[in-house]
Amino acid sequence: MCTHDHHDDQNAVIDKDTKEMLSRRHMVQALAAGGALTVTAPALSGCATNAETGSKQFLLIGDGQLGQMAASSWAEAKQKTPTSTDPRYLGRLKTIGSRIARGANKSNEQWDYAVFDTDTKNAFVLPGNRVGFYKGMMDFAETDDQIAAVMGHEVGHVTGKHAAERVSQQLAGQLAVTGGTALAGSQLAKKCRSRGEARIAGRTQVPRNELYAIQREYQQCMSGAHSKTKMLNAALGMGFTVGVILPYSRKHESQSDLLGAKYMHKAGYNPYESVKLWEKMAEKNTRRQPEFLSTHPDPSRRARDLYNYIKYQEKLGSQGWESIRMPKNS
Ligand SMILES: [Zn+2]
Repeated sequence: MCTHDHHDDQNAVIDKDTKEMLSRRHMVQALAAGGALTVTAPALSGCATNAETGSKQFLLIGDGQLGQMAASSWAEAKQKTPTSTDPRYLGRLKTIGSRIARGANKSNEQWDYAVFDTDTKNAFVLPGNRVGFYKGMMDFAETDDQIAAVMGHEVGHVTGKHAAERVSQQLAGQLAVTGGTALAGSQLAKKCRSRGEARIAGRTQVPRNELYAIQREYQQCMSGAHSKTKMLNAALGMGFTVGVILPYSRKHESQSDLLGAKYMHKAGYNPYESVKLWEKMAEKNTRRQPEFLSTHPDPSRRARDLYNYIKYQEKLGSQGWESIRMPKNS
């Protein structure tokens, strides 16, 4: 979905086809087919390159909006599960968290931390910079460096904008399936359409960029607050469950691993401890398997990838630790 770059500002003649494209029938069809989000209208596709990961992302929702939506889940999590204010846990987590946030150039943002008072070996991050650790995970990780490895990984999900990307993919799918029927007759759709039509009424020429802007506004209008929230809820199915919004893809997981190691290094922790942590998780028979692994599988492979990544950054010397590029053939 992220293959089109448009740097093209020629004028576009509003011909019959364009007018028709803006007409009700076609807009609705395009939306129903997910077309407004794909190649037929590239300017609408919400593509951006993430500076941290270097990956192109398809985003239909911003972190701000996601953060607001996750506020109640965060509050609910803290209400349902007892939290600890023990400085050996919460104080320690806050200290590690703020160092990692600094390593990620995110110390100017607000971060919330909670330690849940159970022996679950798990941790999570919710949109809006909310990081939750279970006591069991902190005990399992044992050292500050290894706790920092988990923290770095979670912060990697934030800087990688993984939640927004995951939700956007779901949302796009949802729009493709139900968009047409759900929105076709609605008042909102009518309002959006007439706004777009008014912009081009009586004109014979409109700069291409403006045309894209009109289409984009139309799209934004159609997925406006009301319908967006409804569709998002549907897209998310169960809503925001604690810990995992939706399981992340393998790509997101490995991006977070490498970003985490990078932030550890920048924060003055020993990134090799992340390798040790994953190796420890891989020792299935010696300890009860951490719950963390149900959403973060394949620990041995991840330990190996992290090791290769860290070695490579060290080899790059002063050029190292600036990206999550991996050596070739690793
Ligand atoms: Zn993860």
